Amino acid sequence: MKCSYCNRNAVYFQRHSGKHLCRKHFIENFFRRIRRNIRKFRMIERDERIAIAMSGGKDSVVLAHVLSELYGNRKDIELVAISVDEGIENYRAPTLKIAEKICRDLDISHHVVRFEREIGASLDEMVRRGGKKPCTYCGVFRKYLLNRKARELSATKLATGHNLDDEAQTILLNFLQSDIERLARLVPSKIQKGLVVRIKPLREIYEREIVAYAVLNNLSVSFEECPYSQTPVRAAVRDFLYEFEKKYPGRKFSVMRSFEAILPCLRDRYPQIDLNECRICGEPTPREICQACELRVELNLS
Ligand code: SF4
Ligand SMILES: [Zn+2]
Ligand SMILES: [Zn+2]
Repeated sequence: MKCSYCNRNAVYFQRHSGKHLCRKHFIENFFRRIRRNIRKFRMIERDERIAIAMSGGKDSVVLAHVLSELYGNRKDIELVAISVDEGIENYRAPTLKIAEKICRDLDISHHVVRFEREIGASLDEMVRRGGKKPCTYCGVFRKYLLNRKARELSATKLATGHNLDDEAQTILLNFLQSDIERLARLVPSKIQKGLVVRIKPLREIYEREIVAYAVLNNLSVSFEECPYSQTPVRAAVRDFLYEFEKKYPGRKFSVMRSFEAILPCLRDRYPQIDLNECRICGEPTPREICQACELRVELNLS
């Protein structure tokens, strides 16, 4: 099959546009959409230090590669990477190796923070001690450590590898669970003291395009799934969107566009409140005591 734009052989069929793309035109299209998204939300401007949340999975590896291609030559922009080692046996160690390698290859300084050292127990240990779901501990402490480390590194932004599939799932899931306040917070509307602004440069890129980019650039990535991954509702939404998209290509974009259209109303309805400093650790929180400190007390870790 030939590329829809030139004479070369196609390497990718872009379902949402109906176009066959050669390597050159795939990469051009990929970067054009990422640049447009970065501009639209003013994600990266001048004199920035961008911390990349680097798990070693395909999204974060591709994100680091893309940002390095876009900003590697810019004197006023510095990239750093932060990996969180939650302490999940037989899972995290290999992905950390991949993270280390890509950072070495791209000459990005790499910082690893560990649950065991920073929080007082590995995730495996928390799961043995506490009654909550693994993803609850993992999500709260990872967010906490990423923000704290990014701030310590004087990062101006914290970039995560969320892609279009992730975002469409989250939007739909919030609707289905009637969690509209959380939906309003999906794109932060103001800068909060102590909280490094999160950006998602790949939010307009399909997961299968990320996989194709990794393959075309020979990037080693991990496709391993976390042993604790058990999110039946999200998996159902993912499967539904997958089938729907297959039948009606481009509908994940529609979910995103609809969300962006109602975002101003959501922000009016649920204005972002100013955060406090946690009374125990000083990290930003909407409450008196942050969720991480609450969980630490519950797990007898303080
Ligand atoms: S699936 Fe695994 S890595 Fe992801 S939040 Fe849950 S415990 Fe953490
Ligand atoms: Zn072409
Ligand atoms: Zn706290």
